[in-house]
Amino acid sequence: MIKFECASKFYGDVAAISQLDLDIQPGELVALIGPSGSGKSTALKMVNRMVELDHGRILFKNQDITRFNLQDLRRRMGYAIQSVGLFPHRTVAHNIATVPRLLGWEADRVRARVTELMNMLSMDPDHYAGRYPHQLSGGQQQRVGVARALAADPDVLLMDEPFGALDPVTRAALQRALKAIHRATGKTILFVTHDLDEALLLASRIVLLNNGRLVQVGTPLELLQQPANDFVADFLGRADLGLKQLSLQPVAHYLKPLAGPAPAYVIPSTATAREAISCMAEHHVSSLRVADANGNIIGQVGAPDLLANNHV
Ligand code: ADP
Ligand code: MG
Repeated sequence: MIKFECASKFYGDVAAISQLDLDIQPGELVALIGPSGSGKSTALKMVNRMVELDHGRILFKNQDITRFNLQDLRRRMGYAIQSVGLFPHRTVAHNIATVPRLLGWEADRVRARVTELMNMLSMDPDHYAGRYPHQLSGGQQQRVGVARALAADPDVLLMDEPFGALDPVTRAALQRALKAIHRATGKTILFVTHDLDEALLLASRIVLLNNGRLVQVGTPLELLQQPANDFVADFLGRADLGLKQLSLQPVAHYLKPLAGPAPAYVIPSTATAREAISCMAEHHVSSLRVADANGNIIGQVGAPDLLANNHV
């Protein structure tokens, strides 16, 4: 869907992005992470040509992005940023409708789309459609920003630290919303964050940048289990690598049939391996019964299996 081929961008002598190769498949949710100044925002802005390349090229649907009409390219790529950038004198509905109106959609279709998106982002249209941005909380503004980016059903969603300014509870709610949207729409999402946990939670693949160069790309588990070098291990938090792996693995992966005396405590099969270990530590036990969504016991897990971590 998006392919970087040896893409570079210089500011003076400094390479903000240096010879980046990256192939993003349709439906992927790719997180760009790295220290401040590593080139994350530059890489993102190259895709919709807010930043023009100095060398190399970027393909969108197998076509060089410079061959698209610029307006057309941007309308096919929703863009959401941390500072939101809502129009202050336009209502929520009007803000969300920006691109569909530019595209000349009929009023009924625009209205229906706005309602659909507000529902998708858990904002009651009756309550919020007529409000102005200053009448919303930061989290609600961010929801409107995401809805606006999705309005014309773009092929790609580009997001630059969209939840960076939110408190942890609001942030977690928006992370869940984004994950649900990704599942429901199958959009290709390229997402910048400096928050490792956010990347581990949301991304199907993580791209780690440092000084404008790609250091490692892989699934969250691949990075945690096989950090390419010391920089990666340090960035991921060397001391926590094991716990972070357990956080990514559902307890269901370790399920065994019930055998012997049934363990006293029960954990849902959707819990993570880390939550299971935590539950065992809290109750001073070394195995737990596992229940499905209906509360039926489907087996058990034991601490040695979780810690041996040998199923992958
Ligand atoms: P990140 O998003 O990872 O924090 P950026 O992509 O914003 O990093 O910046 C990468 C590098 O390029 C930094 O060294 C930054 O100072 C430089 N840079 C970014 N934008 C500009 C600009 N418009 N003019 C000059 N230097 C820039
Ligand atoms: Mg940035």
